[in-house]
Amino acid sequence: MNESTLRIGILMPEVLGTYGDGGNAVVLAHRAKLLGYQSEIVHVSCTEAIPESLDIYTLGGGEDVAQTIASRRLLTDRGLERAVQKQKPVLAICAAFQVLGTWYTDAEGRRTEGAGLLDVVTLPQGARAIGELINSPSGLPLERELSEPLTGFENHGGATLLGRDASPLGFVTSGIGNGQPGVAPGLADGASAAAGVQQGHEVSREIPEGYRATEDGKAMEGCVQGSIIATYLHGPCLARNPQLADLLLARALRIPLPLAVPEIPGLQRLRQERLAAIK
Ligand code: GLN
Repeated sequence: MNESTLRIGILMPEVLGTYGDGGNAVVLAHRAKLLGYQSEIVHVSCTEAIPESLDIYTLGGGEDVAQTIASRRLLTDRGLERAVQKQKPVLAICAAFQVLGTWYTDAEGRRTEGAGLLDVVTLPQGARAIGELINSPSGLPLERELSEPLTGFENHGGATLLGRDASPLGFVTSGIGNGQPGVAPGLADGASAAAGVQQGHEVSREIPEGYRATEDGKAMEGCVQGSIIATYLHGPCLARNPQLADLLLARALRIPLPLAVPEIPGLQRLRQERLAAIK
């Protein structure tokens, strides 16, 4: 591999690899190849130091216990933090979104310290949010780069609240998205309050001071802070949303959008069909 090779990291795939999000790195490598760039996918296991020299970092989803292992690791190894300080693009999916935050609630219902790279906190919802999700970045910081809605599959028990430094990636047009603490998706407010308990733990509906579950009365999905883009969209997300893949590539390669990636025949039609089927 020579110096001009794009190095795409998958961090801690043993614990943050449950939902197939490693496919995001494969999509980045494939689109880079279509653009004429060589790339290398670098798996950084839990036992290795996190290099700050990679060009793009991806982190996937995982179960509650798995994400606790990941957050402990990120608290002792600050390689990702140094990469973020250098504005390296980071894509964090689901559990990784929660783990990069200030704190989240672990499987035992305890508040657990996160890596502190995102101004977000995660509390339990009244029930898991599971299903297709559509996120519209319109009216938000990345609306110019992401002119099309983002779609994916969500599967999470946590509700993630944004603090002042975090902007939503998109507003929810279908599905749950970041969610609300203690409010069971799909249930009327009263019903979920009565449900009140998840996995034997009390579920609080309280929103900690300085954090928000909605913006302008709208439900939010994901967040953007500095060079980090975080989302609840599995899929893998970049296979379903090539515009987001190109945004990460453009930032890593320091080239302007739109990228001259040849159109994949039928992909646009597939996206439209998916959107119509979800709505
Ligand atoms: N364990 C987390 C939750 O349930 C994240 C799940 C995931 O990564 N899909 O909220």
